[in-house]
Amino acid sequence: MPKQNLMDMVEAEVKACRKCELWKVRRNPVPGEGNLNALVMFIGEAPGYWEDMKGRPFVGAAGKLLEEMLSRIGLSRSDVYVANLLKCRPPENRDPRPSEIQACTPYLDRQIKIVEPKLIVTLGRHSTSHVLLKAGIDAGGITEVRGRVYEAELLGLKIRVIPAYHPAAALYNPKYKDAFENDFQIIKSELEK
Ligand code: URA
Ligand code: SF4
Repeated sequence: MPKQNLMDMVEAEVKACRKCELWKVRRNPVPGEGNLNALVMFIGEAPGYWEDMKGRPFVGAAGKLLEEMLSRIGLSRSDVYVANLLKCRPPENRDPRPSEIQACTPYLDRQIKIVEPKLIVTLGRHSTSHVLLKAGIDAGGITEVRGRVYEAELLGLKIRVIPAYHPAAALYNPKYKDAFENDFQIIKSELEK
């Protein structure tokens, strides 16, 4: 089946999903969006206020920073695919619960298998630990792993995983912002390989 049809199916299922309690409090589910042939896929945590309002990933302040960083390495949103660990917004942006991650990430797995990116950039500690654990990589916390490149075998695919700080963290802490900018230089050099 063509990639577009497969992704349309994922989106339709997400929009009707009631597999965890978050469906009750979401305004709009946020399946993800972007280029289905992207070389790089970004995985954030969960929709925030604006994402929940609009049904699109990374459309608030963190999304603006993400776009700015992409443009610095010659990319735009239409070149990449952007998704989240959870497709519905947790109340008050609280951390995702393990049960929610378990219920929701089969959708993410399908998205990864459809896009088959060369690189996955995990934004923040939740998506980072989920993806590295799934690849059987026993690494440290986000501060130790960010900016490194992991050769992972994920869902039967060979994918390089680059953990990065979450753009929201970079927005509020100048120390993280430098590191976040640096992470994009790493993405650029990995894409050139
Ligand atoms: N933060 C995330 O993790 N994901 C979004 O889509 C927006 C903000
Ligand atoms: Fe379904 Fe995921 Fe939304 Fe929970 S967060 S209701 S599992 S789409």
